Amino acid sequence: FMLPIAIGTAIVLAFVVTQLVRLQGAIPAALRYALKHKELFLVYQPVVDLRSGTWVGVEALLRWQKSSGEFVSPDIFIPVAERYHLIEQVTEQVIALVEADAAELLRAYPDFHVALNLSAQDFCNPAISERLRAAAAKMRVHPRCLHVEATERVFLHAEQTRKAVETLRMQGHSVSIDDFGTGYSSLSYLTELELDCLKIDKCFVGTIGQQAVTSHVIAHIIEMAKSLGLQMIAEGIETQEQADYLRAHGVQFGQGWLYAKPMGMAQLAQELARQRQPEAG
Ligand code: C2E
Ligand code: MG
Ligand code: MG
Ligand code: MG
Repeated sequence: FMLPIAIGTAIVLAFVVTQLVRLQGAIPAALRYALKHKELFLVYQPVVDLRSGTWVGVEALLRWQKSSGEFVSPDIFIPVAERYHLIEQVTEQVIALVEADAAELLRAYPDFHVALNLSAQDFCNPAISERLRAAAAKMRVHPRCLHVEATERVFLHAEQTRKAVETLRMQGHSVSIDDFGTGYSSLSYLTELELDCLKIDKCFVGTIGQQAVTSHVIAHIIEMAKSLGLQMIAEGIETQEQADYLRAHGVQFGQGWLYAKPMGMAQLAQELARQRQPEAG
């Protein structure tokens, strides 16, 4: 009587495997289509000065909406792009989108910045720093208006990354380490790379106010960033309690739904114009 069970299991397994293979093949093909047919666009999430509440810049976050209307999350398609050697094209589109979207805004507010997420592979591309220099030149803004975010995966290519970071910073760009504490962290790499800013991942921000052991970790991350002379941006701030804790512990900047969700450039420009309007009377 084991035979029917074995056959049944084999059929189910075969089905699951073919479905997985089909999906894996489908995403890179759809992404190639998306790159060609301009299905990718950027939204911008404000970075807030936690003391004054002022918006000091934005992070550009990539969105993919298929012609069917369906959205695909960057947490899904960025790793696929990295695996199928499409990331160079994705990053090129991100830079081109920033050039088109943000030039006017950055010329109007030269103290404002746009931060771009680069993949670990982008830091191995010897042309990346020149590409960003060219972007700033084309937009007619100072390179300091364009920030760069790198995840800890860049530590896998330590030597190439060190060179790229050095050149980017020499050009005037600010470089942050993103999602700190969630990946291939190595304290020795962190001291070797000359960085400007550390982004505290939202998983640590989420522990603020909780009794869990992990809630102590964020205090150590903050102390370490301070001792390395790094600025800090806390990600994923959703409650006033989190904001108060971060401010009290000397974290200068934050992002999160408590302040603002990612938005289109038109809305951002409108909001900024309203905020920066000189007080009447
Ligand atoms: P990330 O760079 O760490 O971006 C922060 C993520 O947290 C964003 O998700 C943002 O929408 C989300 N977020 C912001 N505030 C809150 C909050 O208060 N609560 C919660 N729960 N989430 C919040 P998103 O846009 O889905 O992006 C996910 C990741 O995809 C990014 O993480 C980044 O690693 C990657 N990514 C996005 N755009 C690009 C891009 O242009 N290039 C590359 N290489 N990666 C990108
Ligand atoms: Mg980021
Ligand atoms: Mg992050
Ligand atoms: Mg992330």
